[in-house]
Amino acid sequence: MTDRRDELAANLAKVEERITAACVAAGRERAEVTLIVVTKTYPASDVRILSELGVRLVAENRDQDAAPKAAVCADLPLSWHFVGQLQTNKVRSVVGYADVVQSVDRARLVTALSKEAVRTGREVGCLIQVALDAGADGRGERGGVAPAGIEELAGLVADSPGLRIDGLMTVAPLTGEYAGREQAAFERLMVLSTHLRRTHPAATMVSAGMSADLEQAVAAGATHVRVGSAVLGVRSRLG
Ligand SMILES: *Cc1c(COP(=O)(O)O)cnc(C)c1O
Repeated sequence: MTDRRDELAANLAKVEERITAACVAAGRERAEVTLIVVTKTYPASDVRILSELGVRLVAENRDQDAAPKAAVCADLPLSWHFVGQLQTNKVRSVVGYADVVQSVDRARLVTALSKEAVRTGREVGCLIQVALDAGADGRGERGGVAPAGIEELAGLVADSPGLRIDGLMTVAPLTGEYAGREQAAFERLMVLSTHLRRTHPAATMVSAGMSADLEQAVAAGATHVRVGSAVLGVRSRLG
């Protein structure tokens, strides 16, 4: 346990150094970038250590894993973000612990989130997940809506009781024109964010960048990076 604490502390310090260096290189203030630690596949005991080490934002991508973890960690001063593809039948559970859902990508999900937020008297922050590799159907392989669908979805969120439109999220595409061009992908997301903020000035969050490409995200202007394996270790099973 003590070893794990040392390991997580060292990894966190390394990630912190990377973010700071990326901010310096980009001429940005360190305070402009917020670290979200993605704890998926790792146990609640790790989440507890991370909290003791000062982490305040954690993210999960599967409700089955996240719900029990969040319950066990309910005493900790953490904010939970949901970043995975979300089925409407999981919305009730997710709204029970998540302050922010970063993977909002279709109208039906917005409706379900709003209904549950109202029922429980919670306010849920929403990021529109943008698929920069969206196919002809306007959807990404790993979730997300095509850029052309952002405005309508954001409008729907803004008009939905219990929901707040906080900004945009993306995952660097593995296919299509942005494959292998993470920084270009994140720069595109920034342009889309600028458009969005014309109609929704408070939607300032730009969530981009993971362990492998956080520097590119910071360089492009991301406000939030979602880092898993660089803090917790390489996942043994598919997350
Ligand atoms: C797993 C995951 C991350 C973190 O990925 P790492 O490569 O482990 O840093 C970030 N965002 C989403 C949506 C994820 O599913």
